[in-house]
Amino acid sequence: MTRKLYYEDAYLKEAKAKVLEIREGALLLDQTIFYPTGGGQPHDRGTINGVEVLDVYKDDAGNVWHAVAEPGKFKPGDEVELKIDWDYRYKLMRIHSAMHLLEHVLNEVLGEGNWELYGSGMSAEKGRYDILYPENVNQYKEKIIELFNKYVDEGGEMKIWWEGETRYTQIRDFEVIPCGGTHVKDIKEIGHLKKLKRSSLGKGKQRLEIWLED
Ligand SMILES: [Zn+2]
Repeated sequence: MTRKLYYEDAYLKEAKAKVLEIREGALLLDQTIFYPTGGGQPHDRGTINGVEVLDVYKDDAGNVWHAVAEPGKFKPGDEVELKIDWDYRYKLMRIHSAMHLLEHVLNEVLGEGNWELYGSGMSAEKGRYDILYPENVNQYKEKIIELFNKYVDEGGEMKIWWEGETRYTQIRDFEVIPCGGTHVKDIKEIGHLKKLKRSSLGKGKQRLEIWLED
């Protein structure tokens, strides 16, 4: 199985690796810093030996494959240099950790058990939660932003640990959330919530979208 360096240190921007196999334009490496699409988090961008990485995905065996623009430039046994687009990844780490913090803030403001999360998504630009809640969340908007930013100012460690095959995360002493994504070390790094937008999807279904300050 590919050694997942992004789990050992989410802040690695460069690394060396060895090409083990090439299949359908994708490289299998002995180890990687490239996060594959999964758990709602998009795959990393970057280069391998200067060649653009187009897609990163995990197979059923837990191996990570890197689809590259010019696979003909590689052969098994090659020692290669990996470089991820750090600006892009760091934005994803901040937004992903922000989504976890938002879950806690919604539990505090709306009340745990009063709302239900039924969909989510994230990009480097914004995060999205689709929730079920009987009242219009707009009335709590200021409260949510204020509490979120208060926690960011106070800071707190994002703890990560494994139990068997399952990886868990926890901000401070908040909810334990199973998650395979990459996160910031301290929620201070998330930065303030710049904007929270609520839109109705009908019948108590509401979409919450968040944007972070740069
Ligand atoms: Zn997560």
